[in-house]
Amino acid sequence: MWQALLDGSGCPICKRGLPLHVIANLECSWLTMSEDAPMPGYVCLVSKVHVIELHELEEARAEAFMRDIRSVSKALSIITEAVKLNYEIHGNTLPHLHMHFFPRYVGDPFEGKAIEPRAVTQPVYAPGQFAEVKSRLLAALDVDAD
Ligand SMILES: [Zn+2]
Repeated sequence: MWQALLDGSGCPICKRGLPLHVIANLECSWLTMSEDAPMPGYVCLVSKVHVIELHELEEARAEAFMRDIRSVSKALSIITEAVKLNYEIHGNTLPHLHMHFFPRYVGDPFEGKAIEPRAVTQPVYAPGQFAEVKSRLLAALDVDAD
């Protein structure tokens, strides 16, 4: 299973051509966001090319990826009350390069420790709130919805 995920032949993102829940098309990545989130304002930035590790991005693309990261970071900081953004790159189930953004809030359920997404069993958005947060994020990013 790992080999097909690593070489891209079995990568669900590459097979589909896009990740799920894309809300914006950035310079070299797709921004994804879902109402089913571990924290309000949680988003994931997915590389448009299939690489496993950061160093596998060619230089110009790596710089573009960092620009996308910084744009999302700034926009999330503007539209949330986050005291800190966590940036996480894993590959536990899907080794196609992607970065998770977890806003941390005063009094969030994991204050003082790491977020445990699997421990989140309740919706983090009130009814209607997700659409509003998404539209404010897109406005702060200054991009059109995808
Ligand atoms: Zn892929």
